[in-house]
Amino acid sequence: MSDNKSTSSDYEYVNENGIDIELKCAICIQPFLLPTWFIRARTCPTCRQYAISYVKRNNRLVQTSPYVAINTRIVTNQLDHLLIRCLLCDETNIQRRHWQIHQKRCAKRTVICPAADLKCSWEGTREALLAHLSTCTYYQMQPAINELRKELTTVQAVQNELKTSVTMLEKKIEFLLKFINHGQIMMTSCSESENDCKYNIINDLHHVWRFLCSICNEYVSRDQIQLHACSGNCICRSCVYSQYSNHRQINELSS
Ligand SMILES: [Zn+2]
Ligand SMILES: [Zn+2]
Ligand SMILES: [Zn+2]
Ligand SMILES: [Zn+2]
Ligand SMILES: [Zn+2]
Repeated sequence: MSDNKSTSSDYEYVNENGIDIELKCAICIQPFLLPTWFIRARTCPTCRQYAISYVKRNNRLVQTSPYVAINTRIVTNQLDHLLIRCLLCDETNIQRRHWQIHQKRCAKRTVICPAADLKCSWEGTREALLAHLSTCTYYQMQPAINELRKELTTVQAVQNELKTSVTMLEKKIEFLLKFINHGQIMMTSCSESENDCKYNIINDLHHVWRFLCSICNEYVSRDQIQLHACSGNCICRSCVYSQYSNHRQINELSS
């Protein structure tokens, strides 16, 4: 339940004339608000800003003294204990420091329906809320809808897990198809006469040849090749390792 924003115009001071002039801004004659108000210049920043720009506009000399935050315990205490009256519900003698607490329970304050997130557009005073809730369908449906929302989140999480494992399986199948290589299964070493195999090191004396990996489609040097078929095609080491993280599996695969 969220309260409408309120301002200090929702309350007035009890016996405002009796409040010590030291606690008031020299320009607007309102008691200082905490903690943003300042005391040395005896004006509040907003008023002072206004006064300074007025003086500047009229080309008068202005003496600016720095603002100092009110941090004197006696002053802040006095400000905290100023008595106010709520203009909405008429409750009076509320200490100013308790204003926010009062706002949260003030019967005349405008509130929105707790089911506003379900599009209930009702708003009214807090004292009328209870009557509204007893007839608000949104509010009564809220627990059931929240339950469904929770389930939906779980289902979505499961779905994401499934998507991930489907992608993994697709990759594995693609790897195995490339490995089977139309019946010319890849090996770690040559299956044919070494002289005829372009992957054999003895045919590449200067180690300059580059070979296209069937999985990642990158050109790699001979020492980066893990599996090859002498008739053509190879898979690089990093592709093999990303598919089979332990060595036993790799050995089984290529034996
Ligand atoms: Zn002021
Ligand atoms: Zn009130
Ligand atoms: Zn409602
Ligand atoms: Zn070979
Ligand atoms: Zn590769």
